[in-house]
Amino acid sequence: MNKERNNGVTYLTFDSFKKRGVKHGFSTRLGGVSKGVYESMNLGFGRGDEDENVHENFRRMSKALDMEYSRLVLSRQTHTTNVRVVDEKDAGNGILRPVPYDDVDALITNVRNLPLVTFYADCVPLFFYDPVKEVVALSHSGWKGTVGRIGAVTVKKMGECFGCDPENVICGIAPSICGKCYEVSGDVADSFRSEFGDAADELFLSASLFNPDDPDKYMLDLWAACRYVFLEAGIREENIEVTDYCTRCHPELFFSHRVMGSERGSLAAFISL
Ligand SMILES: [Zn+2]
Repeated sequence: MNKERNNGVTYLTFDSFKKRGVKHGFSTRLGGVSKGVYESMNLGFGRGDEDENVHENFRRMSKALDMEYSRLVLSRQTHTTNVRVVDEKDAGNGILRPVPYDDVDALITNVRNLPLVTFYADCVPLFFYDPVKEVVALSHSGWKGTVGRIGAVTVKKMGECFGCDPENVICGIAPSICGKCYEVSGDVADSFRSEFGDAADELFLSASLFNPDDPDKYMLDLWAACRYVFLEAGIREENIEVTDYCTRCHPELFFSHRVMGSERGSLAAFISL
């Protein structure tokens, strides 16, 4: 990914989206006004930070990404696989008024200048763009969302609602916890095994690096799992771009739930036609 800086804000972009002219970015901690554990680009409301700081951070991100602050559409994530198609009437949800929906872990739109926003601090942000039907989407793929194949659910919904063909869809797997940092317990590993069969042990799961002698601890590579879900859904291999930034490996750049616990800010993904 490219690390970019604009108007004092540092964020990351995908080559594959950039060269097609899609406005997008993934935030870092840098360039905001929040203090303490939220320092400085906290984009999460309701985490204990001052609302006015979060609004100012959104204004700065919007300016840096050339998006309209008052038209941002925010998700309301609860580790589901619920996907919501949003349109003109949703402009400003979460910014001008409280978000009117709940349990929404993915957003899709074909409306121009309607920027979508989803939230993270180790979970995997998925970006989507169909250049043929002109549709964009974001989804939140933590371990539960990944077991639920939210990447595939999102692509399927793009097909049902807008006629998108997976063959044309460009996907990005954005900064999140890497496979060398993400230790999970046996019950999480078993959820992956029951959903993905042998592929789980072959591609996503390995012995714990931190507790090598504990048979109930595993390393989980969510990037590999999300990539697998995309390929299964018919996305072309050359249309998948995977980040090289881990949120836990880079505390100077990112908020990480595994590093900071719940006393922290939120990162966010942005995309707009
Ligand atoms: Zn890492």
